[in-house]
Amino acid sequence: MLLIDCPFCGARTESEFTYGGPVAAPRPDPATTSDADWVEYLTVTPNPLGPVQEYWWHVAGCGQWLTLWRDTRTHDITEAPHAC
Ligand SMILES: [Zn+2]
Repeated sequence: MLLIDCPFCGARTESEFTYGGPVAAPRPDPATTSDADWVEYLTVTPNPLGPVQEYWWHVAGCGQWLTLWRDTRTHDITEAPHAC
């Protein structure tokens, strides 16, 4: 189980949080993006191996959205959470 160090509440187990997904690249402008790149943006979900920046919502605590870096191979949190 992950132990997430909320900057407002301290270290809490992941059961108090809701995963919000990876921090994605900014939405491309469909007017200047090729059809293939636009379809890929809409349909392909990134699933990287290694460090990923993610959103987590402390739903059973302070209610803040946080971002943190987690290594998807080890589940180690490699950078302390920050408020959004
Ligand atoms: Zn909190």
